[in-house]
Amino acid sequence: MNYKNYPMVSRVVFGRGSFNQLNDILAPKRLNAKAPFIFLVDDVFKGNAWLTSRISLAYDDQLLFISADEEPTTSQVDELVEQIILNHTDRPSGIIGIGGGTLLDLSKAVAIMLTNEGESKDYQGWDLVKTPAIYHVGVPTISGTGAEVSRTTVLTGPEKKLGINSDYTPFDQVILDPELTKDVPKDQWFYTGMDCYIHCVESLKGTYLNAFSQSYGEKSLELCKEIFVDGDGSEEELQDKLMMASWHGGMSIAYSQVGVAHALSYGLGYLLGTKHGLGNCIVFDHLEEFYPEGVALFKRMKKIHGIILPQGLCSKLDEDEFNTMIDVALAMEPLWENAMGKNWKQTITREKLRALYEKM
Ligand code: NAD
Ligand code: ZN
Repeated sequence: MNYKNYPMVSRVVFGRGSFNQLNDILAPKRLNAKAPFIFLVDDVFKGNAWLTSRISLAYDDQLLFISADEEPTTSQVDELVEQIILNHTDRPSGIIGIGGGTLLDLSKAVAIMLTNEGESKDYQGWDLVKTPAIYHVGVPTISGTGAEVSRTTVLTGPEKKLGINSDYTPFDQVILDPELTKDVPKDQWFYTGMDCYIHCVESLKGTYLNAFSQSYGEKSLELCKEIFVDGDGSEEELQDKLMMASWHGGMSIAYSQVGVAHALSYGLGYLLGTKHGLGNCIVFDHLEEFYPEGVALFKRMKKIHGIILPQGLCSKLDEDEFNTMIDVALAMEPLWENAMGKNWKQTITREKLRALYEKM
């Protein structure tokens, strides 16, 4: 047996207000006056002095506001990389991503593509990246995806929605400041939080589970229950807990995998642009057959928080569109194998997936 040797985030700071340390953390990493820091910031923070006044720009540093309305695409990554190369004589000292999973993934991908030739679509897959990325820092402003800790950056490309999974993907530095999540809208808090909950269920119920994944998954699930079921703590304490639940959920899937909800959600995301957190919720709501206890608790949490999910997403789709979603979902082989075991192809048929999608 050859065990996987995983890289992890090298440095992490946790605490309310720790974002104030950003400039001190970056200063020693500046290569020279011509090698800028590039800040990729969710444009929800445009005009938000509380956050942006704490980012100090020096020399040729650049702050780019980027919309998270759509999840990152390979062409968006390639354009950003080209823009950065054209605008600066030297390679950047670092990329700093500030935002949710969308901005974190974008930053990881840009950092990789600044040192690797060709187009980002060529690196979607497992271990295709050859050269280490430039220094990159992640600052999550919404909790749940685990993108801050993971070894992947999920991109929608011309042919597939798939991550760049590599040893060079994880951040060199993460700043976990739960205060940054204080203005997240309630629905989005639930959807992205449920991404974390679903990571735990899929990891803990998967065939790839080992003690490493289980220990993180159980802790994360316990925190999710305290947050979404019991409301155990002040608003600040709940923000702190969700940030750590996200981290642990990400650590749990690092050594296992996600499962049925993610595979089907990728299909929705690819065809309809349904965002990851919401898509996972829409799918998971119909997965009693695979995760009976997990789905029952999910429905309870939905009720507690008055969340009403969109219905009838697939009601007007034609044959080709269903086939596209099914192709995308079935291509996620490790997810199915984790969920159902080695013989998953015997039960997970196109008809089965079609019937599930028709419910959504
Ligand atoms: P997101 O980054 O798209 O953000 C969701 C919404 O919340 C956006 O409208 C954003 O502007 C807003 N927002 C973020 N922070 C805010 C704040 N502090 N106040 C107010 N609004 C705020 O959503 P997400 O759920 O965090 O991330 C989804 C993305 O993460 C997808 O692209 C998905 O593929 C990716 N993902 C990656 C991994 C990984 O391991 N790399 C894991 C899971 C998901
Ligand atoms: Zn997820």
